[in-house]
Amino acid sequence: MKSVKHWINGALADGGSRTQEIYNPATGEVSGAVAMATAADVDAAVAAALAAFPAWRDSSLVKRSQVLFRFRELMYAHRDELAALISAEHGKVHSDALGEVSRGLEVVEFACGIPHLLKGGFSEGVSTRVDSYSIRQPLGVVAGITPFNFPAMVPMWMYPIAIACGNAFILKPSEKDPSASLLMARLWQEAGLPDGVFNVVQGDKAAVDRLLEHPDVKAVSFVGSTPIARYVYETGTAHGKRVQALGGAKNHMLVLPDADLDLVADSAVSAGFGSAGERCMAISVVLAVDPVGDDLVKKIVERVDKLVIGPGDDPRSEMGPLVTGPHRDKVASYLDLGVSEGATLVVDGRRTEVLGGAPAAETPGFWLGPTVLDHVPAGSRVHTEEIFGPVLSIVRVSSYEEGLKLINGLEFGNGTAVFTNDGGAARRFQNEVEVGMIGINVPIPVPMAFYSFGGWKSSLFGDTHVHGTEGVHFYTRGKVVTSRWLDPSHGGVNLGFPTNG
Ligand code: NAD
Repeated sequence: MKSVKHWINGALADGGSRTQEIYNPATGEVSGAVAMATAADVDAAVAAALAAFPAWRDSSLVKRSQVLFRFRELMYAHRDELAALISAEHGKVHSDALGEVSRGLEVVEFACGIPHLLKGGFSEGVSTRVDSYSIRQPLGVVAGITPFNFPAMVPMWMYPIAIACGNAFILKPSEKDPSASLLMARLWQEAGLPDGVFNVVQGDKAAVDRLLEHPDVKAVSFVGSTPIARYVYETGTAHGKRVQALGGAKNHMLVLPDADLDLVADSAVSAGFGSAGERCMAISVVLAVDPVGDDLVKKIVERVDKLVIGPGDDPRSEMGPLVTGPHRDKVASYLDLGVSEGATLVVDGRRTEVLGGAPAAETPGFWLGPTVLDHVPAGSRVHTEEIFGPVLSIVRVSSYEEGLKLINGLEFGNGTAVFTNDGGAARRFQNEVEVGMIGINVPIPVPMAFYSFGGWKSSLFGDTHVHGTEGVHFYTRGKVVTSRWLDPSHGGVNLGFPTNG
């Protein structure tokens, strides 16, 4: 049985006595326990971070960049180990866990360029012999609170940039899959990051609440479900903090009649069932514009029938289990709900065999196979609520306009995709759709590290998206300096208001 602790000031820390069980989702068995931070544990992490901050802030940009380069190499070298930790606690298949490590590494690579990213502007002669320039400085101690579905990548959306900018960072990972955080902490230390600059507090609401109210925490990045994102944003800002809080999603794929239906079916199945649908950029609804519905559903079902469901550490598996028993039960409850709302259950994931064995519903572990619901009524709960599992809903619509209206009427605005061969229609969609991240013939349009990631509406609270230049802005404060060096032509006392003469 493993015991997952906190990481404070460069060392493992036991903290208080409260713990929570960690599961192996593939078997349903308990694999260990994670420490649950008290307010005192959070205070210890903040104190360590605050003490480490001044020296790290004052270290040169080149030194910071060198630490990041070393961290990048170490993470790359340990990527299999990290992926195995993720797979064992989250359930996703090893190749998918490797994928999240590699997308997270892109942000580290972006942050390696911090000397360039922190360059300010300089204007010579804004007034007579007066120059102006802008600089950006770190905030101090900043925190990241992250969800279960990407235990490596989502923290890596945050901490590489926060640390590169000169801040000290406290990570509060998900209590469901906490082990990746400690490997990352150890690798930071090996890379030469001074102790106290990167800390981990494990836990739940108690830890989050203390971070939100602690006066020495200057900014909070959050990724998770919409109700908690809203709570974190409101509580953090009420305590005077800068907050970016990314919430849930219900991503729709609009399929226009001229689209290549084989590409659409491949994309819908990959984006709907990869990571068992537990991705904030998963496609959960296909809007099939008449008359493509029947052909498209046939092609989707052909592909779904061939998917191999099994444990994440078996190389034959394409899709693993869900993260916990309660989450699997909640997702599975949408199957009967969908039917009661008028949908047709075309593929029932409860009956899917787990790697040639028994059906999902009878296999120990948190299993549910890929499920397809067709003719889902627009506006029904299955259509509009975030299910966050392997359930793909097909909603039939008669036109582009009807599909667009459904997307724009949603509470969420994280990601969306349009599939078409008509450039004009795609251009119109990107202009008219009220969503933060858009794919054109790309089902999971996760922006690269040098762009910023974030949705609209209830998918993001705050005005700054994560990583890219918006990430650099979030973790720094701007200053503008106006400077004049006297020369022999200095004109003496002048009580007039300074103007740009
Ligand atoms: P969650 O909201 O339950 O938990 C997220 C974090 O908040 C965890 O660290 C958790 O410990 C903490 N938390 C949970 N309940 C809390 C409470 N009452 N008070 C304070 N903190 C609390 O989310 P999850 O189930 O771990 O992750 C899945 C959700 O995250 C989905 O809704 C998914 O769409 C969303 N998500 C969004 C994005 C995005 O970029 N928008 C990315 C990944 C995941």
